[in-house]
Amino acid sequence: MSDCIFCKIIAGQIPSAKIYEDELVYAFLDISPINFGHTLVIPKEHHQSAATIPEATAGRMFHVASRIGILLKRLDEFDAYNLHLADGTAAGQVVMHAHLHVIPRGAEDEFRWNWRQLTYPEGKMAEIAADISAKLKEKLAN
Ligand code: 5GP
Ligand code: ZN
Repeated sequence: MSDCIFCKIIAGQIPSAKIYEDELVYAFLDISPINFGHTLVIPKEHHQSAATIPEATAGRMFHVASRIGILLKRLDEFDAYNLHLADGTAAGQVVMHAHLHVIPRGAEDEFRWNWRQLTYPEGKMAEIAADISAKLKEKLAN
């Protein structure tokens, strides 16, 4: 995609601090990291949503990202990592080329997810699970 910043990075038209590249994926340092070493793993093919990425490429992204996460733990103070993917603007996606964040984490890094925990009203949990499960069966069959 000609106006996509990450496609331009893959093509070498915009510089990046490359970590890894193969025929399916490209990994490079995020320019504004949560912690130093914060990496983005992206499909070489342009996809806005993770949902359209072919299974082999999506699998490679996850495989490479988790290996990078393990290596990031060797940097300085880190002892864990988060994998994060925002799919859609309301979820926080800013760059519309799907990307998996690998974020090195340390117990003392003072970064906190703002992760709330709601409570399901009676019956709602089973209802939602049944609905999604039925629709997913259809989707995966096609
Ligand atoms: P999102 O919010 O879409 O999940 O994350 C987009 C990420 O891309 C942000 O963390 C941002 O810092 C990073 N980013 C945006 N533009 C560039 C760029 O030109 N180069 C690099 N290396 N990272 C970028
Ligand atoms: Zn792109």
